[in-house]
Amino acid sequence: MKSSVPSVICGSLPKPQWLAEPEKIWSPWLVPESSLRVAQIDAMRLSVEDQERAGLSIIGDGEQTRQHFVTTFIEQLSGVDFKNKKTMRIRDRYDAAVPVVMSAIERTHSIFVEDAKILRTLTKKPIKYTLPGPMTLVDTLYDDHYGSREKLAWRFAEILNQEALELQAAGVNIIQFDEPAFNVFFDEVRDWGIATLERATKDLTCTTGVHICYGYGIEANIKWKETLGNEWRQYENIFPLLSESKINQVSLECQNSKVPIELIGLLKNKDVLVGAIDVASNAIETPEQVANILRQASEYVPVKHIHACTNCGMVPLSRDVALAKIKSLSQGTKKFNEEG
Ligand code: ZN
Repeated sequence: MKSSVPSVICGSLPKPQWLAEPEKIWSPWLVPESSLRVAQIDAMRLSVEDQERAGLSIIGDGEQTRQHFVTTFIEQLSGVDFKNKKTMRIRDRYDAAVPVVMSAIERTHSIFVEDAKILRTLTKKPIKYTLPGPMTLVDTLYDDHYGSREKLAWRFAEILNQEALELQAAGVNIIQFDEPAFNVFFDEVRDWGIATLERATKDLTCTTGVHICYGYGIEANIKWKETLGNEWRQYENIFPLLSESKINQVSLECQNSKVPIELIGLLKNKDVLVGAIDVASNAIETPEQVANILRQASEYVPVKHIHACTNCGMVPLSRDVALAKIKSLSQGTKKFNEEG
């Protein structure tokens, strides 16, 4: 009998419009500080219900308690100055005013652990949590203290590991690190990117994953992608390295993607989270389109290693569109599984 492919979201879902302005990244909170926490947990509850009703196999928090997947994590650490930002080039593509590392970075308290404990009570299904990866954190800060991207990455890896171990203890089954920076700095991925990612997963016994992607929701990323031609082969550089790493899962975009699907065959012995939902389009994929991507993936990856996923986070979409898309994700996966 064919293995059954599970379905799961990559990370974020849109927030309710009373919590944050929709279809925006870095969207500011709309509720006052005094009721923000309660509102975020209510939003998480809705997001879990949406995923359950859609029929997904693994449930995430939809990143309802964070404004942004990188900055919300960094804001909780000491040693980083958020007031006096400096301009820096991000992913070699665009300039942004970013926080500055002023002194040794410390994690003085848990960041998402209380949220994860609540998520654990909201579903009986396996739960997934996402954290930014060390290289992507480094690439989002101006460093005035460590003097080397690699040193800073090792420090972040230690801190991420502390958080990840506590998430695991809270009952999280899958921890995924988001590393969109991995398809830009190939030399660094080889020299210390994979090693620092593995350090972040040290002593974890739960499933570990990494999400890589070409970036969505930011104009500079869209322009950059226009320069890449018809076939995107950047992953060819890093898949052999990821294949040899200790990380269990790799998540990437496949639906409407210019990444040749056969490249996933390089991810030997890894679970591949096949992106079957395009997060850059409002068109709702049909279950057949989802099943079709899974069929294509199964030509290069054994079915037992395939998971059906979204291409990336869904926060840039409207809630209605995102909900329809995760329903199709679930139905298309079911269709594929029933084909035998
Ligand atoms: Zn992504």
